[in-house]
Amino acid sequence: MADRFDNDDMDFREVMDSSVDDSPIERKDTAVEETPKEGNTSSQSKDNESEYEDVCFVCRRPESKAGKMFHLPNGISVCDDCMHKTMDTISQFDYQNLLNNPALMDELNKHSGMPGLNFMDLSNFTGGAGIPNSQKIKKKKEEDTRVKPEFNIENIPAPHKIKAKLDDYVIGQEQAKKIISVAVYNHYKRVKTGTMDDIEIEKSNILMIGPTGSGKTYLVKTLARLLDVPLAITDATSLTEAGYIGDDIESVVSKLLAAAGNDIDKAQQGIIFIDEIDKIAKKKNTTSRDVSGESVQQGMLKLLEGADVEVPVGASSKNAMVPMATVNTRNILFICGGAFPDMEDIIKQRLNKQTSIGFDADLKDKWDKDPDLITKVTVDDLKKFGMIPEFLGRLPIVCTLKGLSKEMLVQILKEPKNAILKQYQKLLALDEVNLEFDDEALEAIAEKAMEKDTGARALRAIIEEFMLDIMYEIPKDDNIGSVTITGDYIKGKGGPVIELRTTEVLKGIGMKSAEN
Ligand code: ADP
Repeated sequence: MADRFDNDDMDFREVMDSSVDDSPIERKDTAVEETPKEGNTSSQSKDNESEYEDVCFVCRRPESKAGKMFHLPNGISVCDDCMHKTMDTISQFDYQNLLNNPALMDELNKHSGMPGLNFMDLSNFTGGAGIPNSQKIKKKKEEDTRVKPEFNIENIPAPHKIKAKLDDYVIGQEQAKKIISVAVYNHYKRVKTGTMDDIEIEKSNILMIGPTGSGKTYLVKTLARLLDVPLAITDATSLTEAGYIGDDIESVVSKLLAAAGNDIDKAQQGIIFIDEIDKIAKKKNTTSRDVSGESVQQGMLKLLEGADVEVPVGASSKNAMVPMATVNTRNILFICGGAFPDMEDIIKQRLNKQTSIGFDADLKDKWDKDPDLITKVTVDDLKKFGMIPEFLGRLPIVCTLKGLSKEMLVQILKEPKNAILKQYQKLLALDEVNLEFDDEALEAIAEKAMEKDTGARALRAIIEEFMLDIMYEIPKDDNIGSVTITGDYIKGKGGPVIELRTTEVLKGIGMKSAEN
């Protein structure tokens, strides 16, 4: 035993396993299990397993914070960090001296069958059941993912099938959905057939350009759920060159590993979405080191084309206490998204230059009116914006998303499988109340959202504002059978139409004549 602990490089799990196998600690534990103390044990501890998180006996952090636990006898759990620290301390203990000192050994043996290890019975502190439930945190329930996995990347369906499924959730953006479906199909097909050799040309990393709230993140999230692959979403603005304040670039891979439940194989086939990529454009006229712009682009090159990256498991930063894992990014699909403000001006400038001199004024006008100008973006425009050529070379697929029109916003309200209206309708249906929005109301909501200029993101906030009163008032009265939200209610000119379960109709607050 002393020899074992002298070996610093030993795998601690091995020690724990073997100590459970052959040490007196284990035997003692079985004895405890055989004679349950207060009728607690097995069934109760099963409950603990399912509902409560384990808490580290030393540092008291729950499993969700401290990571996987070592389970010791008497219901005691110790986190990885504390176990490492303990083992370090033990390994520095001078066992040789102890063994050479018969008097000390005798003294220790009086207290326990085994020197050095078993002279403290932890069950005295815990009543034999570890940390009581009252001091534990209940486990978080699994997140309800509304988009169910539809595809298997082992047998990826044809692009038109991928797009058809995306259509159920994402409104408009036809070209973007088409491009992405093809890219994803090609990517996973190559991954599965192992033809990713010529990575720089073959890898289908994607650059998505589109205004805020046009559905970039939503598209990627939907895709990842349909494909059932892990997804990590990062904001490029939080990244800095390694060694500076901020997350270093490899932290994105660490996030993906966490999203894959620390399963390296799964992570290696995942998707990494880096938002706000336009914010790491090369800074113009800067004299200081560009640690969050051009350097981040440089730093990402290796990741984008495929490299082995050492990342900490279960933590965002590297330190001595955190185990490391090697993840290869060759099969990871990188999607970068950004709004690229003012890009239209750059495109306009280029288009104007291309045409002959003399018609300038007239042509400028022409491009001003083009709502799809952004779709004409080229690699040169992106370079001008401040993206470095090597970076763009590793994002061979560029797709653009359009700003959402009023009609699209109305569709977003009611059509997707998980549309906001459907969610509210379901909620009120639980109270057996029928919720309707008339067309005018939907248009009024869309108009309000357009004013905010944040795309579809504004929709939820606006509806929530109006629904608050409804959700507050309706459950008060069991007689209410149906509520119709009208355009006037949204515009502040009237109230919703409320129908009682009988055929009486109340309009807003004022009563109206009965309708049959
Ligand atoms: P961004 O382009 O800024 O990443 P998001 O994807 O985060 O925008 O969009 C915000 C929200 O708006 C999404 O969660 C989604 O509910 C809704 N949304 C945006 N665009 C669409 C769309 N084309 N179809 C359906 N919902 C959309």
